[in-house]
Amino acid sequence: MPTLALNALVAGLEATAASTPTDEAAVALLVAHDHWLHRPDFVDCLVMTDRERCSPPVAWIYWHEVPAFLADAPCSSSEAAVLRIAASLAGHDPQRPLAELLSGLDDTNAAHVADALAHVLTRGGRRPLPPPWKCPDCGRTYCVCSRRRTTGASARAVEGAGR
Ligand SMILES: [Zn+2]
Repeated sequence: MPTLALNALVAGLEATAASTPTDEAAVALLVAHDHWLHRPDFVDCLVMTDRERCSPPVAWIYWHEVPAFLADAPCSSSEAAVLRIAASLAGHDPQRPLAELLSGLDDTNAAHVADALAHVLTRGGRRPLPPPWKCPDCGRTYCVCSRRRTTGASARAVEGAGR
């Protein structure tokens, strides 16, 4: 069966993912990454289409088969990481820790992944992201001093009240 042209394939995947931000983000990440949807082995093994009952055709990805597919597919570590992140966004176990998947990305792929995460966290752009939290004491984003101080201050206040 001849495969769909890339633009029809993307349109079919987007149609299937539409209105679920996690699925939209997974498809958008693959499209932005611009690698896997060009690979005949990926499309043949993991992309399903229905063009007999649906016009225009719809397409979807067997995300649950991504880890098994990657066990044999020749690719770079970042190509594999992006595909696993997309599978994870779509709700499937990528079988690698998120820390490992995120830490090896170059700037371009990091930007694609950040866009995908932002799409999910803003619920498809319907909810603005609040500005990053900063510690009121030290101004850092990652900090335990304020929690420690609050806990200590509360404990002292309780002690003081008891005297
Ligand atoms: Zn602090």
